[in-house]
Amino acid sequence: MTRKQLIVGNWKMHGSHTANAELLAGIVGARPYLADVAVCVPFPYLSEAAIALAATDIRWGAQDCSAHEQGAYTGEVSASMLAECGCRYAIVGHSERRAYHAESDQVVADKAKAALARGVTPIVCVGETLAQRDAGETEDVVKRQLSAVIHALAHCASEIVVAYEPVWAIGTGRTATPEQAQHVHHLLRAQLQAATGRGEQMKILYGGSVKPDNAATLFAQPDIDGGLIGGASLKAADFVAICRAAG
Ligand code: PEP
Repeated sequence: MTRKQLIVGNWKMHGSHTANAELLAGIVGARPYLADVAVCVPFPYLSEAAIALAATDIRWGAQDCSAHEQGAYTGEVSASMLAECGCRYAIVGHSERRAYHAESDQVVADKAKAALARGVTPIVCVGETLAQRDAGETEDVVKRQLSAVIHALAHCASEIVVAYEPVWAIGTGRTATPEQAQHVHHLLRAQLQAATGRGEQMKILYGGSVKPDNAATLFAQPDIDGGLIGGASLKAADFVAICRAAG
C-alpha cells in the first residue's frame, strides 16, 4: 500500500515576524513537493502562517490544543479557536509537554479527542525515554501511549496521525537508526490495524533529529510515512531538503 508522505515542521518556541516571513517564503518558493507539507507554529503566529500559506497547498497547525471546549482555563487555546485559524493539524502529547507540563496519557487522549471533534487532525506523539529503551520497555511504553488515544477516540481513531518520537533522539543529534524506527513503526501500525481496521491507510511519522542527510533513508522504510521535524524545520534550506526527500 502506498501512502502519501507527510512532513510537518515543529517550530517549537522559535520565531519572530521577520524570521517567519523569510522561512515561510523559502518553503513556499521551493514548491512543488511530492509529499504533503505543513508547519506547526506558535499560537501567536497562526494568523500570519494562514495569510502566507492560504493560496498554497502547504498546511499549518498548532503545537498543542486544550482538552476543554471553552471556559476558565487561562492560557489555554481550544480546538475551535484552532479551527477558526484554519489549522489542519495540532500536535498533541509531544514529549516536551509530557515532561514539562506533566501531561498524562489520558490528558493527551482528551486533547486528541477535542481536536478531532473540531475537524483538526491531531498528530499524536509517542516515544520512550532512553532509560525506558535501555530497560527494554520501548514497546510497552509506545503501545500504552497510543492505546489511551485509541480508547478515547473509538471509531474515530483512524483519523489521527501518529508520530513516533524517541525522546532520546529529540534535539540531541542522535537519530534512531532506520531499522530501530521501522521496528517501532511496524508495531504501531499493527496496533492501529487491530484497533481500527484502517492501520494500512494511516500515517505514522518519525521524529527525532531528522536532517537533510538522514531523511531519505528514514523515509524509505516501509512503515515510515514522513517526519515531524524540530530543529531542522527552522532553516528553509534544511526543511526544503527534508521535504524533497519524501514522496
Ligand atoms: C520535535 O521536536 O518534534 C523534534 C523531532 O525535534 P528535533 O527534530 O529537533 O529532534
